[in-house]
Amino acid sequence: MLRITGGKVYDPANGIDGVVKDICVSDGRVVTDTHAEGGRTIDARGLIVFPGGVDAHTHVAGAALNFARGLTPENMRRGHPFVHSRELRAGLGGVTPTTFATGYMYAGMGWTTVNEAAVPILSARHTHEELHDTPILDKSCLVLMANNEIVLDLLEAGEIERATHVVAWLIWAAKAYGVKAVNPGGVAAWKWGKDAKILSAPIEGYKTLTPATIIAGLAKIVDELRLPHPVHLHCNNLGIPGNVSTTLETLRILDGHRAHLAHLQFHAYGGDDWGSLRSEAAALAEYFNAHPNLTTDAGAMLFGETVTITADGPLEYMLHQLSGRKWGNVDVENETGCGIVPHAYKPNKLVNAVQWAVGLELLLLINDPWRVFLTTDHPNGACFWRYPEIIRLLMDVEFRKEQIKLLPEKAQKRIVLADVDRQYTLSEIAIISSAGPARALGLSQKGHLGVGADADIALYEERPESGILFEFPRYVIKGGDVVVEDGAVRNVRNGRQFVVRPAFDHQIEDYLRPLFQKVYTMSFDNYPVEVERLHQPDIKPCG
Ligand SMILES: [Zn+2]
Repeated sequence: MLRITGGKVYDPANGIDGVVKDICVSDGRVVTDTHAEGGRTIDARGLIVFPGGVDAHTHVAGAALNFARGLTPENMRRGHPFVHSRELRAGLGGVTPTTFATGYMYAGMGWTTVNEAAVPILSARHTHEELHDTPILDKSCLVLMANNEIVLDLLEAGEIERATHVVAWLIWAAKAYGVKAVNPGGVAAWKWGKDAKILSAPIEGYKTLTPATIIAGLAKIVDELRLPHPVHLHCNNLGIPGNVSTTLETLRILDGHRAHLAHLQFHAYGGDDWGSLRSEAAALAEYFNAHPNLTTDAGAMLFGETVTITADGPLEYMLHQLSGRKWGNVDVENETGCGIVPHAYKPNKLVNAVQWAVGLELLLLINDPWRVFLTTDHPNGACFWRYPEIIRLLMDVEFRKEQIKLLPEKAQKRIVLADVDRQYTLSEIAIISSAGPARALGLSQKGHLGVGADADIALYEERPESGILFEFPRYVIKGGDVVVEDGAVRNVRNGRQFVVRPAFDHQIEDYLRPLFQKVYTMSFDNYPVEVERLHQPDIKPCG
C-alpha cells in the first residue's frame, strides 16, 4: 500500500483538474481509499500529481539507434546526472542515450511509457532485446509496413483480403503493437535512387501502385484488424518546402478512417523553395479541428545539435546534401530503409526558425489537446529530455513572445506564432503528455489515475526554484514502486512490453513461405520473433 496525500491532482481523463485528493496504490494499481494501515505515505503538499508521461512517438531502440550512436562519437561524453551515478548501470548520454540511460532519463522526467515508432521486422528481435534493456519504462513498438514489398505487391494486385492476413502475420512476427507507414512507396523507390513525391503517380518498379493506394490500403487493413492504435503515418515529402499540399491530400485519402499523423511539424510547410519556406500550420490545424478521426503528434523542433534517424532514406540523403554532414544509409532487404544524418538547428537560419515556430503553432492552433501530443520525434526534432522547454513555451505566452523576437525578422514574417495568445493549462499539459497519447494508443490502463489504472504517477513541485516546471519530478512512481525520488533514480525495475496478436488465417504461411525462401536472406522459420524472447509481454488479442 502506498498513499499519496495532499497533492493537487491533474487527471483529465477522469475530469479532475487540480483537486487536492489522496491517491492510493496497491499491487501496482490505483485503488479506492481503503483506509488500510501500513505501507508508505508520501506527503505531496506543494506538489502537483500527474499520470506518468506517455510518449506516442520516439526512437529509442534498434539497429538504427546504434548506427546513430556510432556516427556521433563526439556526443557520447555529454552527460546527464542519471548517467553518472555510482548506483546505476553505465550508460552514455548525449542525443541518442544508450538503453539504460534512456530508461533513467525518461523516468527521471516523469515519463513511464514509450512507443518506439519504427521497427523493421528483420531487426525486430534486436529491437526487443534493447527494449528489454531499457529499464523502468513500459514499451510498445510499431512495425514498418508501407514499403514492404510483399505487402506492396498484394496492394498492387488488389488482393486486400490476403494483404490483411499478411499484415496481421507480420505484426505478430515482429511482436509489434501497431503499423507504421513511412513515406509510402518512397523508401521502396529509394532502392533505385528514386523517391515517391506525387501521391497519385506509380511508384518506381510498379505498374499501377501509387502512394495513395498504399495509404488507403493500410488504413483499411488496420481498421479491419481492429488494432488498438490506428495507422501511424509519416507522410510523403517530409521536410520539403510546400509539402502541406501533400499532407492535406494524404488527410483527404484517410477520410473515413482513423489515423495518426506522426511529427506533423515536418509536414506543415508552404513556399516553393528553401528561400520562400513558410509555416502552413494554420491550414493543417484547421483541417484537424474539423476532422475528429485524426490524431497527431507535434514533432516539435528545438535549436541545438541532434541526430536525425528515419526510415525515410531519400530524405536523409537530401539532408546530407544540403548540410554536408555525415550520412549513413541502410537498405533493409524487402521491407524498408533507414538513413541517419547528424544535424544542428540554428536560430539564425530561416528554415530552422520557421520549423521551431511550426511545432508550437500546431500545438497551440489544434484546439483539442486530446488529438495533438507532445513529441519531438526524438531525436529528430530535439531530444526527449528537452520536453520541459517546450512545456514552458506552451504555458508562458510572455516568454514565448520574447523568444520569437530573437528569430530573424524574415522568419517572423513567415509564421503566425506571434499572434497566438493561448497558454496551456496544467490540465492540458497532462492531456498532451499522457492522457491523450494513452487514449490514442488504446492503452486504457495508462494516462489516468482512476481506480484500476497502472500506478504510474509523477509528482512535481508546483513552484520549482528554477522556475521551470516538469524538469525534475520530486517523485516518480512506476507500477506502484517509487523509482525516482528527489532527483535520483532509486529503484530500477523492468517494464512491460505491449504486443497485439491480430487474428489471421494460418494458411497464409503457405503463401508466405515459398516467397521468403526465394527472396529473403533469412529463412522463414527464423524470421518471427519468438514469444518466449519477450520479457513481461502484455499480449492483446484483436480482430
Ligand atoms: Zn519518428
